[in-house]
Amino acid sequence: MDYEVLNGLLRPKAIAIIGASAQEGKIGYTVVKNLIDSKYEGAIYPINPKTPEILGLKTYKSVLDVPGEVDAAVIVVPARFALRVTEECGKKGVKGLIVIASGFGEVGKHELESQMVETAHRYGMRVLGPNIVGILSNSDNNNASFAPFLPFPGKAALVSQSGALLIAMDASSYTRGVGFDKMISIGNMSDVNFGDMVDWLDNDENTFCISLYIEGLQDGRNFIRAAKEAGKPIIALKSGVSAHGAAAAASHTGSLAGSGKIYEAAFEQAGVVRAANLNNLFDRTLALSLQPPMHGENVMVITNGGGVGVLATDAAERYGIPLRFAPDDVQTELKKYMPEFGSAKNPADLTGMAGREWYEPSVKYAFAHPWVNGLVVLYCETAMTDPMDIAQGIKAAVDSTGIKDKPITVSFVGGEKCDAAMRWLVENGIPAYNAPDLAVNAMGALHEYAESRAQATTAYERYTDVDEAAARKIIEKVRAENRNMTEVESKDIFRAYGLPVADTRLATSEDEAVALAETIGYPVVLKIASPDILHKSDAGGVKVNIKTAEEVRAAYQEILKNAKAYKADADIHGIVIQEMAPWGTEVILGSVNDPTFGPSVMFGLGGIFVEILKDVTFRVAPISPAQAYKMLSEIKGAPILAGARGEAPRDREKLAEVLSRYAQMVVDLGDVIAESDANPVIVYEEGAGVNIVDARIILK
Ligand code: ADP
Ligand code: MG
Repeated sequence: MDYEVLNGLLRPKAIAIIGASAQEGKIGYTVVKNLIDSKYEGAIYPINPKTPEILGLKTYKSVLDVPGEVDAAVIVVPARFALRVTEECGKKGVKGLIVIASGFGEVGKHELESQMVETAHRYGMRVLGPNIVGILSNSDNNNASFAPFLPFPGKAALVSQSGALLIAMDASSYTRGVGFDKMISIGNMSDVNFGDMVDWLDNDENTFCISLYIEGLQDGRNFIRAAKEAGKPIIALKSGVSAHGAAAAASHTGSLAGSGKIYEAAFEQAGVVRAANLNNLFDRTLALSLQPPMHGENVMVITNGGGVGVLATDAAERYGIPLRFAPDDVQTELKKYMPEFGSAKNPADLTGMAGREWYEPSVKYAFAHPWVNGLVVLYCETAMTDPMDIAQGIKAAVDSTGIKDKPITVSFVGGEKCDAAMRWLVENGIPAYNAPDLAVNAMGALHEYAESRAQATTAYERYTDVDEAAARKIIEKVRAENRNMTEVESKDIFRAYGLPVADTRLATSEDEAVALAETIGYPVVLKIASPDILHKSDAGGVKVNIKTAEEVRAAYQEILKNAKAYKADADIHGIVIQEMAPWGTEVILGSVNDPTFGPSVMFGLGGIFVEILKDVTFRVAPISPAQAYKMLSEIKGAPILAGARGEAPRDREKLAEVLSRYAQMVVDLGDVIAESDANPVIVYEEGAGVNIVDARIILK
């Protein structure tokens, strides 16, 4: 990212409006008027060959006629003039184009859009848009857009792929009291995309939280990189969870991936906090822009009402920060600020009698206590107490501790007095909400931020004991023969990456099958080996628990017969003989080459129900063993691996290593592997390892 160029585009000192208009109601008029109304301090140059002046400003026939320098040009002329004006801007030395004009990629004119970007790049310019609302910045008094006014001032920055939504959020920032320094519309993202915006906003001194409305990312890996590098909280609302991954899916993993799960994973890996919906985006943005992350697990709730306390307790569990009983010293101290029938456990219920004289010391004590990692203060309006007084007590208590690295969120439930008190709190840096679960959800966001941030910044180290060249040799052979890869070949590639695969050998005659079975040792498994039969059991091509030579001969013949019945012209390489793996927990590993994020891996419990239960979790590859270990705990079936119902815990450590090696394999060979899976992988007791009994690689 060329920081200076983007600075010129997003914090311009002089703006030309190409296609400015004197006619009210035209976008070319609105943009000029908005710049004037927002008290923009830089130069405004309306460009219009036919009108001498617009809103009292002298116009120019072309941007080339402007006497001074121009940093940004707002383009509002019809799309067909885009190339010409881009060329002129380039010659003028403009840094960036804010292309409000539509009629490009969104109506199928991709060619025109990319020509405009190519032209711009030739002159070192960057392009924001096209098809956008524009840019809004409170700290620059800059409303270079057709949104009616600058947003409610604050510390967040919104980047939105939808223009209409940006305008709506601009307006509702006032009614919600959630402040933004900037709102930036990025529309078609022909050039400047989310990754660029994260990079740039991370350096912006007026932005404390980066808030994103995303329909789809283009360069998923660049976005992950930018987000990982960012030193500020990022929150994303992702819409349009599409099925594009499922469309071309040939495997379990493919059909399971098309559900937005890879986005979810990528956000977590990148340390991006999720918003569940639009309200949640506002609520969480408020907390993330005003408060530090919540490190640790202990949330303390102080309330004056049991009802809101219980609601907060339920919410805490829902949002990943379940309440625990406060330690004795906390309880003893808080007991001083409540009547006999109050409770200090957590939530600490000061009761309805509590006024500032109880709230203030209890908030002060709890906030300062090392056990408390985050404090949620609740208040229900009562006839005896004054909300503003309580609000000021809370603020005074927090300030008196001098603590700046621990978060607090507040909820006041009541009428206008509560609303006024909450506005005051927000103005004073304390996020406040009109329902207890919202204050808890906000704390959940601060906790999520700390957690995913820690994960995003963990080190990743490659395994070096892998043989990529050997793997590629097998792939080349299969490609040269223009066929699918067999189980044996897939397993050889797995083995090259240090993955524990079951002993699997190919027999081309009955006698050889018996000999191999004897070397491997009974019981064995016999399977069809054919590049034309990918789902072997569907073809009657798998016989397990074969115990004698006679059984080997019978199974050999039957599998051949079944395979021919299944697909008469199948190319049959022979029958594989395999060690029969003892019983264990069956899991599945899978990979897809996601169109947005590239090679990504999946983990889930195996067996025939995987597609019905969809109890799977994803990561963008590669992943460290630590990240892989975390995946194991994310599925609903996690207790099975942890050792449910008297079963011994499974070897999760080895499984995590396997998952990490597997992820490395699909990244290294990402240019040739389309999808793959290992289904089933049998997992044994701790220390006893895992065994991959089936492997399948599908080439691009
Ligand atoms: P496919 O998935 O192509 O139908 P698999 O190789 O996965 O074929 O075999 C089908 C099932 O047979 C597996 O899900 C597993 O339950 C069992 N199985 C296959 N190979 C072995 C083995 N080596 N040891 C134990 N069970 C096996
Ligand atoms: Mg299988």
